Amino acid sequence: MPRALMFYRYYPFLKAMLEGCGCEVLASPPTNLEILGEGTNRCVDDVCVAVKVLFGHVSRLAREVDAILVPRLVSVEKRKYDTFTCPKLIAAPDMVRYSFRHLPPLLDFTVDVARAPWWWSCVRLMRRLGVPLRVMPHAYSSGIREQEGYDGLLRAGLLPADALSRMYNGNGTSLPPYLAERDVTVAVVGHPYLLGDHIVNKRLFHWLDAAGVRVLGSTMLSERDLDAEEPSLPTLSWSYERELLAAASILMKRDDVDGVVYLTSFGCGPDSLITEIVRRELRPAGDQVLMEMVLDEHSAESGVRTRAEAFADMLRHRKKAYASARRVP
Ligand code: SF4
Repeated sequence: MPRALMFYRYYPFLKAMLEGCGCEVLASPPTNLEILGEGTNRCVDDVCVAVKVLFGHVSRLAREVDAILVPRLVSVEKRKYDTFTCPKLIAAPDMVRYSFRHLPPLLDFTVDVARAPWWWSCVRLMRRLGVPLRVMPHAYSSGIREQEGYDGLLRAGLLPADALSRMYNGNGTSLPPYLAERDVTVAVVGHPYLLGDHIVNKRLFHWLDAAGVRVLGSTMLSERDLDAEEPSLPTLSWSYERELLAAASILMKRDDVDGVVYLTSFGCGPDSLITEIVRRELRPAGDQVLMEMVLDEHSAESGVRTRAEAFADMLRHRKKAYASARRVP
């Protein structure tokens, strides 16, 4: 499985289910500059960095595995109106298939909840792998259990990469330093694959942590929290963008949040619209400040580092200034 895009949402589920079917599951290594460069060279120019990274991971896996799983997420929820993910998530397997000359077979895992339930997509995948019917329920429930464990770690505040590392590399039980109490708290809103990939986000979390800031990721919010926020927001057909909008709205109202960083990917169509809605429609409940940050395939971290440090300094200064202004009778 390439460590990109939906990997950061569903890897535990898919890994456990495929292992329950007798497969050995190999994830590509965490993104590095070589993988990013390979993906950028292989992919057309005008797509987002998240998709370019997918190409780099596919290239890394191509000679090592018997099949590659690139999920095709068409719709992930059933509502009164039509819902979709982003066009690139829908087309990801085709983009990969037609961009590489020699690839192992791509496993088709199409999720279109508006037409068929999630479990049906799993049954189709398992049938393609020749898994006997009697094995399927057990494999499926192992996937669900594993996913619940992962979601629990995300809800506790761990970023996707740290939650995965804790599950599969046994990395400690203590909370990561970015969750420690600090004088300033910043929430970062963005797709799990932007929050989870340290090469793509240029170690934003590290720079904020180094600047003495407590950092919360939007991945810590549960589906229930996000759904509860929805009635106050514009209706959106893009499910994942609706989540981000709800997350930004929730975090901009939290008393313990001083600033919100809204992370987007250069070339992302849906996010270009949502960013406008976030900027124009959402009103902070208190003194929260919003900063947008656009990520691309440039590898230098200095731009992100400088902005993270300046943002932390500005929030700290502002907080002190407002606190002393409020003390004045
Ligand atoms: S939602 Fe945006 S960042 Fe994500 S795959 Fe689509 S275009 Fe890329």
